[in-house]
Amino acid sequence: MKKFILCAVIFTLVFFPFESDARGENINHFIFIVLNDQLISFQDVYPEVKKGTTYVPIRFFAETMGADVKWNHQSGLVLIAKDGKEIILDLATKTLVTDGGIIITDCIYVKYNRIMAPFKLIAQSFGYEVAYIGEGPIARAKNENAQISDGELYLKFKNELVKEKEKIILEIRNREREEFRLKYKIAYITFDDGPSIYTEKLLQILNQYNAKATFFMLSDRIKNYPEIVQRVINEGNTVGLHGVTHDVKKIYKSPSILVSEMDACNRSLQTVTGMRTNLIRVPYGSKPYMTQKYREAVVNAGYKMWDWNVDSQDSLADYVSPLMIVENVKEQVGRRSVPIILLHERQCTVEALPHILDYLKKEGYIFIPIDSRQEPFNFWNKIY
Ligand SMILES: [Zn+2]
Repeated sequence: MKKFILCAVIFTLVFFPFESDARGENINHFIFIVLNDQLISFQDVYPEVKKGTTYVPIRFFAETMGADVKWNHQSGLVLIAKDGKEIILDLATKTLVTDGGIIITDCIYVKYNRIMAPFKLIAQSFGYEVAYIGEGPIARAKNENAQISDGELYLKFKNELVKEKEKIILEIRNREREEFRLKYKIAYITFDDGPSIYTEKLLQILNQYNAKATFFMLSDRIKNYPEIVQRVINEGNTVGLHGVTHDVKKIYKSPSILVSEMDACNRSLQTVTGMRTNLIRVPYGSKPYMTQKYREAVVNAGYKMWDWNVDSQDSLADYVSPLMIVENVKEQVGRRSVPIILLHERQCTVEALPHILDYLKKEGYIFIPIDSRQEPFNFWNKIY
Protein backbone atom coordinates (compact mmCIF):
# COMPACT_ATOMS: atom_id res chain seq x y z
CA MET A 1 0.00 0.00 0.00
CA LYS A 2 1.34 3.43 -0.84
CA LYS A 3 2.07 6.00 1.75
CA PHE A 4 0.59 9.36 1.14
CA ILE A 5 2.46 11.87 3.16
CA LEU A 6 0.85 15.27 3.04
CA CYS A 7 2.19 17.47 5.73
CA ALA A 8 3.86 16.74 8.96
CA VAL A 9 1.31 15.09 11.18
CA ILE A 10 -0.15 11.65 11.19
CA PHE A 11 -3.75 10.68 10.82
CA THR A 12 -5.02 8.59 13.60
CA LEU A 13 -7.08 5.72 12.36
CA VAL A 14 -10.68 5.90 13.18
CA PHE A 15 -12.43 2.76 14.13
CA PHE A 16 -15.30 1.26 12.33
CA PRO A 17 -16.81 -2.12 12.82
CA PHE A 18 -16.80 -4.49 9.93
CA GLU A 19 -19.38 -7.15 9.97
CA SER A 20 -18.41 -10.64 10.88
CA ASP A 21 -18.39 -13.06 8.02
CA ALA A 22 -20.22 -16.34 7.68
CA ARG A 23 -18.01 -17.98 10.28
CA GLY A 24 -19.18 -15.54 12.90
CA GLU A 25 -15.75 -14.27 13.78
CA ASN A 26 -15.24 -11.45 16.21
CA ILE A 27 -16.11 -8.03 15.03
CA ASN A 28 -12.96 -6.02 14.60
CA HIS A 29 -12.68 -2.31 15.03
CA PHE A 30 -10.70 -0.38 12.56
CA ILE A 31 -9.46 3.20 12.76
CA PHE A 32 -7.47 5.54 10.55
CA ILE A 33 -4.44 7.26 12.03
CA VAL A 34 -3.40 10.76 11.07
CA LEU A 35 -0.17 12.42 12.10
CA ASN A 36 -0.66 16.18 11.87
CA ASP A 37 -2.03 16.48 8.31
CA GLN A 38 -0.81 13.15 6.99
CA LEU A 39 -2.87 10.01 6.74
CA ILE A 40 -0.67 7.10 7.69
CA SER A 41 -1.08 4.21 5.34
CA PHE A 42 -0.17 1.13 7.32
CA GLN A 43 0.81 -2.09 5.67
CA ASP A 44 -0.10 -5.69 6.54
CA VAL A 45 -1.14 -4.93 10.10
CA TYR A 46 -3.57 -2.13 10.79
CA PRO A 47 -4.42 -0.01 13.80
CA GLU A 48 -7.37 -1.31 15.77
CA VAL A 49 -9.59 -0.30 18.64
CA LYS A 50 -9.85 -2.71 21.54
CA LYS A 51 -11.97 -1.87 24.54
CA GLY A 52 -11.92 1.79 23.64
CA THR A 53 -8.15 2.01 23.19
CA THR A 54 -6.55 2.56 19.81
CA TYR A 55 -3.52 0.39 19.16
CA VAL A 56 -1.00 0.93 16.37
CA PRO A 57 1.78 -1.17 14.89
CA ILE A 58 4.39 0.71 16.85
CA ARG A 59 7.40 0.51 14.61
CA PHE A 60 5.70 1.95 11.56
CA PHE A 61 3.94 4.61 13.59
CA ALA A 62 7.07 5.64 15.48
CA GLU A 63 9.15 5.85 12.35
CA THR A 64 6.51 7.95 10.62
CA MET A 65 6.67 10.23 13.65
CA GLY A 66 10.39 10.56 13.00
CA ALA A 67 11.36 8.54 16.06
CA ASP A 68 14.28 6.19 16.28
CA VAL A 69 13.26 2.59 16.95
CA LYS A 70 15.74 0.11 18.35
CA TRP A 71 14.94 -3.46 19.16
CA ASN A 72 17.19 -5.49 21.37
CA HIS A 73 16.49 -9.09 20.42
CA GLN A 74 18.20 -10.53 23.46
CA SER A 75 16.42 -8.51 26.09
CA GLY A 76 13.15 -8.21 24.13
CA LEU A 77 13.17 -4.46 24.78
CA VAL A 78 12.12 -1.91 22.19
CA LEU A 79 13.42 1.63 22.58
CA ILE A 80 11.66 4.49 20.86
CA ALA A 81 13.48 7.80 20.98
CA LYS A 82 12.67 11.23 19.60
CA ASP A 83 13.79 14.73 20.53
CA GLY A 84 15.57 13.52 23.64
CA LYS A 85 12.55 11.63 24.91
CA GLU A 86 12.46 7.87 25.18
CA ILE A 87 9.93 5.16 25.86
CA ILE A 88 10.65 1.50 26.42
CA LEU A 89 8.47 -1.43 25.50
CA ASP A 90 9.14 -4.70 27.27
CA LEU A 91 7.66 -7.51 25.23
CA ALA A 92 8.25 -10.16 27.87
CA THR A 93 6.14 -8.40 30.47
CA LYS A 94 3.91 -6.49 28.00
CA THR A 95 4.92 -3.35 29.81
CA LEU A 96 5.55 0.18 28.60
CA VAL A 97 7.77 2.64 30.45
CA THR A 98 7.25 6.30 29.57
CA ASP A 99 9.88 8.99 29.45
CA GLY A 100 8.71 10.16 32.84
CA GLY A 101 9.28 6.69 34.28
CA ILE A 102 5.63 5.73 34.50
CA ILE A 103 5.16 1.99 34.09
CA ILE A 104 2.05 0.80 32.32
CA THR A 105 1.40 -2.89 32.39
CA ASP A 106 -0.47 -5.13 29.98
CA CYS A 107 -0.71 -2.54 27.25
CA ILE A 108 1.22 -4.06 24.36
CA TYR A 109 0.70 -7.17 22.30
CA VAL A 110 1.97 -8.81 19.18
CA LYS A 111 -0.17 -9.20 16.09
CA TYR A 112 1.19 -10.94 13.00
CA ASN A 113 4.73 -10.35 14.25
CA ARG A 114 4.14 -6.64 14.80
CA ILE A 115 4.18 -4.99 18.18
CA MET A 116 0.96 -3.14 18.85
CA ALA A 117 1.03 -0.30 21.38
CA PRO A 118 -1.48 2.30 22.56
CA PHE A 119 -1.57 5.19 20.12
CA LYS A 120 -2.59 7.94 22.49
CA LEU A 121 0.02 7.14 25.08
CA ILE A 122 2.81 6.97 22.54
CA ALA A 123 1.74 10.16 20.78
CA GLN A 124 1.37 12.09 24.01
CA SER A 125 4.73 10.83 25.23
CA PHE A 126 6.32 12.66 22.32
CA GLY A 127 4.40 15.86 22.83
CA TYR A 128 1.47 15.34 20.48
CA GLU A 129 -2.06 16.25 21.27
CA VAL A 130 -4.55 13.53 20.38
CA ALA A 131 -7.96 14.08 18.84
CA TYR A 132 -10.60 11.60 17.76
CA ILE A 133 -12.75 12.40 14.78
CA GLY A 134 -15.92 10.34 14.75
CA GLU A 135 -16.31 10.50 11.01
CA GLY A 136 -13.84 8.23 9.32
CA PRO A 137 -13.24 7.39 12.13
CA ILE A 138 -9.87 9.00 12.61
CA ALA A 139 -7.47 9.28 15.53
CA ARG A 140 -5.16 12.22 15.03
CA ALA A 141 -1.92 13.14 16.70
CA LYS A 142 -1.00 16.75 16.19
CA ASN A 143 1.49 19.32 17.29
CA GLU A 144 2.39 22.83 16.17
CA ASN A 145 3.11 21.52 12.67
CA ALA A 146 -0.54 20.72 12.01
CA GLN A 147 -1.86 23.04 9.33
CA ILE A 148 -5.55 22.26 9.20
CA SER A 149 -8.38 21.73 11.66
CA ASP A 150 -9.91 18.35 12.44
CA GLY A 151 -12.99 19.22 10.40
CA GLU A 152 -10.94 20.30 7.40
CA LEU A 153 -8.86 17.21 7.71
CA TYR A 154 -11.86 14.95 7.43
CA LEU A 155 -13.20 16.80 4.41
CA LYS A 156 -9.81 16.66 2.78
CA PHE A 157 -9.46 12.91 3.12
CA LYS A 158 -12.96 11.52 3.19
CA ASN A 159 -12.83 10.13 -0.35
CA GLU A 160 -9.46 8.63 0.25
CA LEU A 161 -10.67 7.08 3.51
CA VAL A 162 -13.52 5.31 1.77
CA LYS A 163 -11.20 3.75 -0.78
CA GLU A 164 -8.56 2.94 1.79
CA LYS A 165 -11.13 1.33 4.04
CA GLU A 166 -12.50 -0.88 1.26
CA LYS A 167 -9.03 -2.01 0.37
CA ILE A 168 -8.10 -2.80 3.94
CA ILE A 169 -11.32 -4.65 4.70
CA LEU A 170 -10.80 -6.78 1.65
CA GLU A 171 -7.25 -7.49 2.69
CA ILE A 172 -8.22 -8.35 6.25
CA ARG A 173 -11.02 -10.63 5.09
CA ASN A 174 -8.80 -12.41 2.60
CA ARG A 175 -6.25 -12.98 5.31
CA GLU A 176 -8.88 -14.28 7.70
CA ARG A 177 -10.14 -16.66 5.06
CA GLU A 178 -6.62 -17.81 4.35
CA GLU A 179 -5.95 -18.39 8.05
CA PHE A 180 -9.22 -20.24 8.36
CA ARG A 181 -8.22 -22.54 5.54
CA LEU A 182 -4.85 -23.20 7.09
CA LYS A 183 -6.32 -23.84 10.50
CA TYR A 184 -8.97 -26.33 9.47
CA LYS A 185 -9.10 -29.34 7.22
CA ILE A 186 -11.73 -28.31 4.75
CA ALA A 187 -13.73 -30.48 2.38
CA TYR A 188 -16.17 -29.07 -0.15
CA ILE A 189 -19.24 -31.21 -0.72
CA THR A 190 -20.90 -30.45 -4.05
CA PHE A 191 -24.13 -31.76 -5.59
CA ASP A 192 -24.94 -31.43 -9.28
CA ASP A 193 -28.13 -31.59 -11.32
CA GLY A 194 -30.66 -30.55 -8.69
CA PRO A 195 -32.78 -29.43 -7.16
CA SER A 196 -34.78 -32.62 -7.06
CA ILE A 197 -36.94 -34.85 -4.92
CA TYR A 198 -33.71 -35.78 -3.10
CA THR A 199 -32.57 -32.28 -2.12
CA GLU A 200 -34.47 -32.14 1.16
CA LYS A 201 -33.11 -35.52 2.23
CA LEU A 202 -29.61 -34.33 1.43
CA LEU A 203 -30.17 -31.17 3.46
CA GLN A 204 -31.42 -33.18 6.39
CA ILE A 205 -28.28 -35.31 6.37
CA LEU A 206 -26.01 -32.28 5.95
CA ASN A 207 -27.66 -30.66 8.95
CA GLN A 208 -27.10 -33.74 11.07
CA TYR A 209 -23.37 -33.36 10.44
CA ASN A 210 -23.35 -29.57 10.68
CA ALA A 211 -22.14 -29.64 7.10
CA LYS A 212 -22.68 -27.01 4.42
CA ALA A 213 -22.46 -27.79 0.74
CA THR A 214 -22.64 -26.26 -2.71
CA PHE A 215 -25.45 -27.17 -5.10
CA PHE A 216 -24.91 -26.66 -8.84
CA MET A 217 -28.44 -26.40 -10.15
CA LEU A 218 -30.15 -26.60 -13.51
CA SER A 219 -32.36 -23.78 -14.70
CA ASP A 220 -35.67 -25.64 -15.15
CA ARG A 221 -35.27 -27.50 -11.90
CA ILE A 222 -34.72 -24.24 -10.06
CA LYS A 223 -38.08 -23.11 -11.43
CA ASN A 224 -39.71 -26.41 -10.50
CA TYR A 225 -38.56 -26.38 -6.89
CA PRO A 226 -38.45 -22.73 -5.80
CA GLU A 227 -39.03 -23.43 -2.10
CA ILE A 228 -36.29 -26.01 -2.02
CA VAL A 229 -33.79 -23.64 -3.64
CA GLN A 230 -34.63 -21.07 -1.01
CA ARG A 231 -34.26 -23.65 1.73
CA VAL A 232 -30.83 -24.66 0.41
CA ILE A 233 -29.70 -21.04 0.74
CA ASN A 234 -31.46 -20.37 4.04
CA GLU A 235 -29.65 -23.28 5.61
CA GLY A 236 -26.24 -21.79 4.82
CA ASN A 237 -25.37 -23.62 1.63
CA THR A 238 -24.40 -21.96 -1.63
CA VAL A 239 -25.92 -22.36 -5.06
CA GLY A 240 -24.02 -22.44 -8.35
CA LEU A 241 -25.23 -22.64 -11.94
CA HIS A 242 -25.18 -25.80 -14.04
CA GLY A 243 -26.86 -24.43 -17.18
CA VAL A 244 -30.12 -25.24 -18.95
CA THR A 245 -29.90 -28.19 -21.34
CA HIS A 246 -27.18 -30.38 -19.80
CA ASP A 247 -26.66 -31.53 -23.36
CA VAL A 248 -23.11 -31.62 -24.73
CA LYS A 249 -24.31 -31.04 -28.28
CA LYS A 250 -26.19 -27.91 -27.29
CA ILE A 251 -24.31 -26.21 -24.49
CA TYR A 252 -20.86 -26.58 -26.06
CA LYS A 253 -21.99 -25.34 -29.49
CA SER A 254 -20.20 -22.05 -28.90
CA PRO A 255 -18.77 -19.99 -26.06
CA SER A 256 -21.65 -17.54 -26.27
CA ILE A 257 -24.23 -20.35 -26.05
CA LEU A 258 -22.51 -21.73 -22.99
CA VAL A 259 -22.52 -18.31 -21.34
CA SER A 260 -26.16 -17.73 -22.35
CA GLU A 261 -27.17 -21.01 -20.65
CA MET A 262 -25.46 -19.89 -17.46
CA ASP A 263 -27.10 -16.46 -17.74
CA ALA A 264 -30.51 -18.08 -18.19
CA CYS A 265 -29.89 -20.30 -15.18
CA ASN A 266 -28.86 -17.22 -13.19
CA ARG A 267 -32.08 -15.46 -14.17
CA SER A 268 -34.06 -18.45 -12.90
CA LEU A 269 -32.15 -18.27 -9.64
CA GLN A 270 -32.83 -14.57 -9.37
CA THR A 271 -36.52 -15.00 -10.10
CA VAL A 272 -36.83 -17.63 -7.41
CA THR A 273 -34.54 -16.24 -4.71
CA GLY A 274 -33.78 -12.64 -5.65
CA MET A 275 -30.10 -13.56 -5.69
CA ARG A 276 -27.58 -14.16 -8.42
CA THR A 277 -24.32 -16.08 -8.28
CA ASN A 278 -21.00 -16.13 -10.09
CA LEU A 279 -20.33 -19.82 -9.36
CA ILE A 280 -20.70 -22.23 -12.26
CA ARG A 281 -19.96 -25.85 -12.96
CA VAL A 282 -20.24 -26.88 -16.58
CA PRO A 283 -21.95 -30.20 -17.40
CA TYR A 284 -19.56 -33.18 -17.44
CA GLY A 285 -16.75 -30.99 -16.15
CA SER A 286 -14.60 -28.49 -17.95
CA LYS A 287 -12.36 -30.96 -19.78
CA PRO A 288 -12.22 -31.37 -22.69
CA TYR A 289 -14.95 -28.98 -23.77
CA MET A 290 -13.90 -25.76 -22.13
CA THR A 291 -11.09 -24.76 -24.46
CA GLN A 292 -9.46 -21.39 -24.09
CA LYS A 293 -12.12 -19.33 -25.86
CA TYR A 294 -14.82 -20.92 -23.69
CA ARG A 295 -12.83 -20.22 -20.55
CA GLU A 296 -12.26 -16.64 -21.59
CA ALA A 297 -15.96 -16.24 -22.32
CA VAL A 298 -17.02 -17.36 -18.84
CA VAL A 299 -14.36 -15.23 -17.16
CA ASN A 300 -15.42 -12.21 -19.21
CA ALA A 301 -19.02 -12.85 -18.18
CA GLY A 302 -17.89 -12.69 -14.54
CA TYR A 303 -18.26 -16.39 -13.74
CA LYS A 304 -15.98 -18.57 -11.67
CA MET A 305 -15.84 -22.10 -13.00
CA TRP A 306 -15.48 -24.98 -10.56
CA ASP A 307 -14.73 -28.63 -11.22
CA TRP A 308 -13.88 -31.26 -8.59
CA ASN A 309 -10.87 -33.28 -7.49
CA VAL A 310 -12.71 -36.20 -5.89
CA ASP A 311 -15.13 -38.05 -8.14
CA SER A 312 -17.57 -40.19 -6.18
CA GLN A 313 -18.72 -41.80 -9.45
CA ASP A 314 -22.25 -41.84 -8.12
CA SER A 315 -23.73 -41.28 -11.57
CA LEU A 316 -22.02 -44.07 -13.50
CA ALA A 317 -25.21 -46.15 -13.55
CA ASP A 318 -28.85 -45.66 -12.62
CA TYR A 319 -28.10 -46.94 -9.16
CA VAL A 320 -24.54 -47.19 -7.89
CA SER A 321 -23.89 -49.13 -4.72
CA PRO A 322 -23.58 -46.64 -1.84
CA LEU A 323 -20.66 -48.68 -0.58
CA MET A 324 -18.83 -48.09 -3.85
CA ILE A 325 -19.54 -44.37 -3.68
CA VAL A 326 -18.13 -44.18 -0.16
CA GLU A 327 -15.07 -46.20 -1.16
CA ASN A 328 -14.44 -43.96 -4.17
CA VAL A 329 -14.47 -40.91 -1.95
CA LYS A 330 -12.30 -42.48 0.74
CA GLU A 331 -9.77 -43.62 -1.77
CA GLN A 332 -9.31 -40.18 -3.39
CA VAL A 333 -9.73 -37.78 -0.48
CA GLY A 334 -6.37 -38.52 1.11
CA ARG A 335 -4.58 -37.47 -2.05
CA ARG A 336 -6.08 -33.99 -2.04
CA SER A 337 -5.06 -31.12 0.17
CA VAL A 338 -8.53 -29.61 -0.16
CA PRO A 339 -11.02 -32.20 -1.43
CA ILE A 340 -13.81 -30.93 -3.67
CA ILE A 341 -16.18 -33.86 -3.86
CA LEU A 342 -18.48 -34.42 -6.82
CA LEU A 343 -21.86 -35.89 -5.92
CA HIS A 344 -25.24 -35.89 -7.63
CA GLU A 345 -28.81 -35.67 -6.45
CA ARG A 346 -29.71 -39.32 -6.53
CA GLN A 347 -31.10 -42.04 -4.27
CA CYS A 348 -27.79 -43.88 -4.02
CA THR A 349 -26.06 -40.65 -3.00
CA VAL A 350 -28.64 -40.03 -0.29
CA GLU A 351 -27.75 -43.47 1.08
CA ALA A 352 -24.01 -42.92 0.79
CA LEU A 353 -23.85 -39.38 2.17
CA PRO A 354 -24.06 -40.18 5.92
CA HIS A 355 -21.17 -42.64 5.55
CA ILE A 356 -19.10 -40.13 3.58
CA LEU A 357 -19.65 -37.39 6.14
CA ASP A 358 -19.05 -39.81 8.99
CA TYR A 359 -15.73 -40.85 7.56
CA LEU A 360 -14.58 -37.33 6.73
CA LYS A 361 -15.63 -36.00 10.10
CA LYS A 362 -13.57 -38.67 11.82
CA GLU A 363 -10.67 -37.66 9.60
CA GLY A 364 -11.04 -34.15 11.01
CA TYR A 365 -12.67 -32.38 8.07
CA ILE A 366 -15.16 -29.58 8.31
CA PHE A 367 -17.58 -28.88 5.49
CA ILE A 368 -18.09 -25.36 4.24
CA PRO A 369 -19.75 -24.12 1.08
CA ILE A 370 -17.80 -22.73 -1.86
CA ASP A 371 -17.63 -18.98 -1.56
CA SER A 372 -18.18 -16.69 -4.55
CA ARG A 373 -15.06 -14.72 -3.59
CA GLN A 374 -12.71 -17.71 -3.75
CA GLU A 375 -10.32 -18.44 -6.54
CA PRO A 376 -12.02 -21.25 -8.43
CA PHE A 377 -10.57 -24.71 -8.77
CA ASN A 378 -10.98 -26.29 -12.16
CA PHE A 379 -9.19 -28.81 -14.36
CA TRP A 380 -7.36 -26.03 -16.20
CA ASN A 381 -6.24 -24.19 -13.16
CA LYS A 382 -5.23 -26.64 -10.48
CA ILE A 383 -4.58 -24.88 -7.25
CA TYR A 384 -5.37 -27.48 -4.59
ZN1 LIG B 1 -24.50 -32.51 -14.33
